[in-house]
Amino acid sequence: MAAKAEIGIIGGSGLYEMPGIERVREVEVVTPFGKPSDAYGLGILEGRKVAFLARHGRGHVLLPSEINFRANIFGMKKLGVERIISVSAVGSLREELEPLDMVLPSQFFDRTQARPSTFFGGGIVAHISFSDPICPVVQQALAAGCAEAGVACHVGGTYLCMEGPAFSTKAESNVYRSWGMDVIGMTNLQEAKLAREAELCYATLAMVTDYDCWHPQHDAVSVSTVIEYLNRNVRNAQAVIRGAIRALPAERTCKCSSALAHAILTDPRRVSVRAKKKLALLVGKYL
Ligand SMILES: [Zn+2]
Repeated sequence: MAAKAEIGIIGGSGLYEMPGIERVREVEVVTPFGKPSDAYGLGILEGRKVAFLARHGRGHVLLPSEINFRANIFGMKKLGVERIISVSAVGSLREELEPLDMVLPSQFFDRTQARPSTFFGGGIVAHISFSDPICPVVQQALAAGCAEAGVACHVGGTYLCMEGPAFSTKAESNVYRSWGMDVIGMTNLQEAKLAREAELCYATLAMVTDYDCWHPQHDAVSVSTVIEYLNRNVRNAQAVIRGAIRALPAERTCKCSSALAHAILTDPRRVSVRAKKKLALLVGKYL
């Protein structure tokens, strides 16, 4: 079956649709892990087949802790997606990462609790390498997209992924700063892990909406300013994504596409038919 999409776009807070996708149609995708956050919007953007998914559902109906990350990523894989651009609104933990800037993190730090973060288990054990969680090729394309759109962009840094939904205390925010963290969000770590297990390229486009609460000005910023910044960030992100898609080479030359090659430890003779069937899309070429 021909792939329905090549590039997946996951829209976070504020980014519930991607204008400019041609011949767009909606598809519901069934996965062994349940229902994705919403229907996927399939169509053509900058001449490439894309699949768009609103991470929190259209209308923003899902808490970060309620998102079925496994279904969202499995659904992308099922549609034939090979690379994911993931957009996330974040708080800044550094003075120099200013509101309206874009950050392309290279690392994640996990402060979530008990979220399902793997497709494995149930009779198949795999340990992926996750030392470099971001695809360098997609990250570079996003940097090119930022440059083309004239958006301030910082390449590198660490995205601390917290559970939420409440934001941090000042004590937590200051500890994260002392650890050398750069931005804080609530969603991208699970997506990155699952994308790696699914052998998909993954990179985060983090939109700085405000400073986290450590900053002296934090309490002085009005809700209307935060919303205005979120809306401006979303318009910038849409331009950056288009530029990134134009900059993405057609062929994948990174290591992401073979992430499972040496990761599965279970003796193939011990894998049940049922487990193999459930994960056939991911492990079929190895087992
Ligand atoms: Zn890659």
